[in-house]
Amino acid sequence: MTSSGNPADIARETIRQLALRRLPPTPDHYRDIYAEVSGQPLAEGFPERLLRQLAAGIGNFASQTRLKRELDDALREQDWARFRDALTAHVALLAEIRDLPWGELLHNLFRHWETRSRLSPGKKREALEQALEGGAGNPGALFSRLDGLQKIWAQTGEATKETENGPPDAGEGIPSVIPPKSSKAGDLLVEFREITAFILESCLPAFLSEAPALAAESRQIAEIARTARGLDALQTLPERLKRLAFQLELASEDQSELRASLLRLLRLVIENISELVIDDERIHGQVEVVREILGPNLSQRSLDDAEQRLKEIIFKQSQLKMSLQEARDALKSMLAGFVDHLADFSGEASGYHGTLEVYAERIAAAGSINDLESVLAEVMRETRNIQAKALRSHEELQQAQEKVAETERRIHALEKELMETSDLVRHDQLTGALTRRGLGEVFAREVRRSERRGVPMCLALLDIDDFKRLNDALGHAAGDDALVHLTGVIRANLRPQDTVARFGGEEFVILFPEAELRQAAALMARIQRELTRRIFLHHNQKVLVTFSAGIALRHPGETEEALIQRADAAMYQAKRSGKNQVLLADPGPANGT
Ligand code: GH3
Ligand code: MG
Ligand code: MG
Repeated sequence: MTSSGNPADIARETIRQLALRRLPPTPDHYRDIYAEVSGQPLAEGFPERLLRQLAAGIGNFASQTRLKRELDDALREQDWARFRDALTAHVALLAEIRDLPWGELLHNLFRHWETRSRLSPGKKREALEQALEGGAGNPGALFSRLDGLQKIWAQTGEATKETENGPPDAGEGIPSVIPPKSSKAGDLLVEFREITAFILESCLPAFLSEAPALAAESRQIAEIARTARGLDALQTLPERLKRLAFQLELASEDQSELRASLLRLLRLVIENISELVIDDERIHGQVEVVREILGPNLSQRSLDDAEQRLKEIIFKQSQLKMSLQEARDALKSMLAGFVDHLADFSGEASGYHGTLEVYAERIAAAGSINDLESVLAEVMRETRNIQAKALRSHEELQQAQEKVAETERRIHALEKELMETSDLVRHDQLTGALTRRGLGEVFAREVRRSERRGVPMCLALLDIDDFKRLNDALGHAAGDDALVHLTGVIRANLRPQDTVARFGGEEFVILFPEAELRQAAALMARIQRELTRRIFLHHNQKVLVTFSAGIALRHPGETEEALIQRADAAMYQAKRSGKNQVLLADPGPANGT
């Protein structure tokens, strides 16, 4: 300290002291020594330098980065109130964390990690990662996440079977270093939560139209799964889910029983229809088909088929009944009319016979030729009368016979028409494949199904290669046999849901519901391969039948005609590129109709 108050002396002494004490000549050191030498305390300025040192000293741990950021911001803006608040909040948090039973938590976590459980070590590690990530920067949240985790592990583990020598799977034991944080697990958890909520909210209730209370419960649980934050809110979930699952199990048992009873009933009805129409071979055959469809491999599609066939049977039955009833009525009224006429005629004829006897007596008693003439004239008149009536009756009888014959013809025509509408028109007589009309019906049905389910649907058009040559070389009958052979090979290699139709002479359409182009192309390739294995034989002579085809994937809203046209264009391209190949159709306009 210098006795002179001269600032130059004080400055000189300050520099000397800095040198003596071997202090670096920083402004801070200079200021401190200056105050000491001059004997005057430092002006009470704001301790900004200390605060900066404090902020710089804060570590880089996750829990401290927020504090550090807060302090840096406050310093930059020289907002000392904010600086104070950040520090106070951090100290409060530290106190709170200090009071949390971390030791117990860690003990439990390690214990459950080593316990054998349904969760693999990999799954446990993933859950741990998620908890660490979710609680990063917030020790309170971290604690509650880890605590939740150890509780779940406690529930899934078998506490009695703890391993003594480390984790059950040595390869995936406790990680020596906690794996780096990844946001993937967090994303997955969010996605999982969303999907769970979606299933509970939209999918399950769709199956529960007959159990509205269960549907409502499912929606409520979905709401919790979607919105719950924090352990307490989530804790009720497993219990409610378990209860719901149990009730669903009961409901599904009820429904399968109901389904089985309905099927039994349906089979009973079918048996009885078959008994009732035993005299009609065609209907009998259709009923057999329905019975087959209701066999062990029941599906929505086979039920649709059964329904379709039953409708046909009902339609034919009612038409036949109506026309038979009409014919019977017509015959009855004609017969009644004829019998009436016959009675009239025979009444008049017996009257005529009575009259003749009277005339015979009058002839015997006749005294003169004049008497005789008048009797004869009366006899002639009576006879002409009776002849005319006989003739009328004969004509009426003929008319009645014609009417009966006409009714019979009508019934026959009706039966023929019915036969055609129900089967002949739907199935090609040679190959048994569907006809164009049959294809139209199936197409409409499959389009409805495809659009309802949002599944793709493909169509292939195939045309036999050089079929004319085959016909010319081996004859038309051999050509027919080749068509039957090809249909057989196609059928044997399609999936149950696919449909084959004869589209024209030697052109076929195949419908592939629930198939992408790739799948349909694979099926077509299989048919091609199979045609080279199961070769068509004509009088023991091998004849290779090949085809060219185009496949098109149906656009939403695309008509049968437009779809076939695209497949046809691809088929034509296949012909031009050398035949015996299958090409994919041009995608065409997205909403082509
Ligand atoms: P491409 O490879 O270009 O298709 O030649 P292709 O000979 O197969 O075609 P084209 O259209 O020239 O001839 C088709 C032949 O198919 C003509 C016709 O006689 C025959 N055909 C059509 N329907 C039948 C049928 O029902 N039975 C028989 N045997 N032949 C048929
Ligand atoms: Mg052709
Ligand atoms: Mg052809």
